[in-house]
Amino acid sequence: MNIILLGPPGAGKGTQAKRLVEERGMVQLSTGDMLREARTSGTAMGNKVAAIMDAGELVTDAIVIGLIEEKLQGDIGGGVIFDGFPRTLAQADALSEMLTRNGQTLDAVVAMEVNDHELIERITGRFTCAKCGAGYHDAFKLPAAEGVCDVCGGTEFTRRKDDNEESLQTRLTEYYKKTSPLIGYYHAKGQLAWVKGLGSMDDVAGDIAKVLDA
Ligand code: AMP
Repeated sequence: MNIILLGPPGAGKGTQAKRLVEERGMVQLSTGDMLREARTSGTAMGNKVAAIMDAGELVTDAIVIGLIEEKLQGDIGGGVIFDGFPRTLAQADALSEMLTRNGQTLDAVVAMEVNDHELIERITGRFTCAKCGAGYHDAFKLPAAEGVCDVCGGTEFTRRKDDNEESLQTRLTEYYKKTSPLIGYYHAKGQLAWVKGLGSMDDVAGDIAKVLDA
């Protein structure tokens, strides 16, 4: 089963994708993670996209389509969760072509609904353990012992450079301008299902499971 998690920044796509990986053995393909990895390893492409990402703008279709194309050639036995891809109509068309070429189908597009106020609150407070990547939040989820990761005991934490109010505003504008048209695109194909992105992680995961098992 191949699915897309669609939604604005901060809707919880990454969190829910990780759960699906654990619970269903699916493969998470996050273009945001791939681009951040390219930056950390200092590849030419990583250097090229750094300023664009920090500003909250979208990188070119050709770059992200290339990243996904490469991953789809690997082992994706349990199915793929596309997280943060596609983000434009051109990317959606390219994905459709790539899947068809590989004899695969897109089985569902789960659109996660969260209001802007909630998104801003979620994003500007989030941080992760630098060692294991466990996620925390200034208001909703602090580590049990101050400054110590609950999961691995790490004591260093990081915040995404684009998780500030200015970049977030650009990310939201990019989302509404370029990504939200995908809602109509997939609705017209009969593939779209809505879930409420508010509520506990378990509730959202339960709603997504209902869509996938339907
Ligand atoms: P994310 O982690 O999904 O929020 O992505 C972080 C940033 O990476 C975005 O703000 C964009 O600059 C870039 N990015 C990630 N995925 C895409 C995509 N599919 N198309 C264009 N830019 C992307």
